[in-house]
Amino acid sequence: MSDWKPIFRKAALLGVGLVGASLALAMRRAGLAAHIAGHSRSAETRARAKAVGFADTMHETAAGAVRDADLVVLATPVGAFGALAAEIAPVLAPGTIVTDVGSVKVAVIRDVGPHIPQGVHFIPGHPIAGTEESGPEAGFAELFDGRWCILTPPPGADQAAVERLGEFWQRCGSEVEVMDPKHHDLVLAITSHLPHLIAYNIVGTAADLETVTQGEVIKYSAGGFRDFTRIAASDPTMWRDVFLNNREAVLEMLGRFTEDLAALQRAIRWGDGEALFDLFTHTRAIRRSVIEAGQDTPAPNFGRARKKPKP
Ligand code: NAP
Repeated sequence: MSDWKPIFRKAALLGVGLVGASLALAMRRAGLAAHIAGHSRSAETRARAKAVGFADTMHETAAGAVRDADLVVLATPVGAFGALAAEIAPVLAPGTIVTDVGSVKVAVIRDVGPHIPQGVHFIPGHPIAGTEESGPEAGFAELFDGRWCILTPPPGADQAAVERLGEFWQRCGSEVEVMDPKHHDLVLAITSHLPHLIAYNIVGTAADLETVTQGEVIKYSAGGFRDFTRIAASDPTMWRDVFLNNREAVLEMLGRFTEDLAALQRAIRWGDGEALFDLFTHTRAIRRSVIEAGQDTPAPNFGRARKKPKP
């Protein structure tokens, strides 16, 4: 984080939940924008955001927040991006960078790209950082520290704008990588989307069982199940939109997963201990490399989350 000069005159955050609020706090920490404007559609969320106090102004309309902004960040569930882009298009000034934090990229380019006026730089992005919490109070400035942020600029994107946005994310604490959007969606399908789907499914299966076993599933839940319940507590709207908008890549990974699960089922059925032991040894080594790469700590929280430091 080289110097403390603002990179942007006015940043508009459309969506002020976990990621939008965290971004505002990270921007404040690094002094990245002279003015931070926030927008949320509900009066309740706007009031909560005001109470937390990470934005200089809160706006009822997206267009109101975007007026005179030179950075616009879409930070709602991805299913809402297209309508937001259509609403703000008439007030986007030439030279503005429009980006997003959405967990999928091909669908976002499809939905947002056509609304972006000539002379405005649309550079999609995805910070690989999050927790299972949502809302303005869930935000914290350190969310992006040491995490990757993937940018997926479309062909012909303005290189200076890509570099400016890259510097912005670095000063928010992230490491930045540029990637093809389709490749991003495939990688994230296996590293993030499928694990969430599995967690939602296993907790759902256990919940069905719960009615049979009258509380025992929850009462005696071992660490493994508890860890899945944490992931399965993630925001339903956000994750519905992820699966609806990364359909192909998720179905491809789900197909592979199902094949491998059938192989495990067969190994158990035929008492093939060697196959089980070999796989579990291999996966233990993968866990070690995740820790060595600095993407998690050895703390037993199965964690994506860096805990919010106590004030
Ligand atoms: P969040 O905490 O649930 O906040 C969502 C925000 O979007 C709120 O301001 C909410 O406003 C607004 N919103 C919800 N539905 C909307 C709709 N249909 N139309 C317009 N606004 C709507 O969400 P988040 O976790 O910050 O996620 C935001 C984005 O970040 C998503 O695109 C997600 O894919 C991406 N992301 C999330 C994570 C994660 O782990 N959570 C990580 C990386 C990227 P109201 O309350 O006023 O409705």
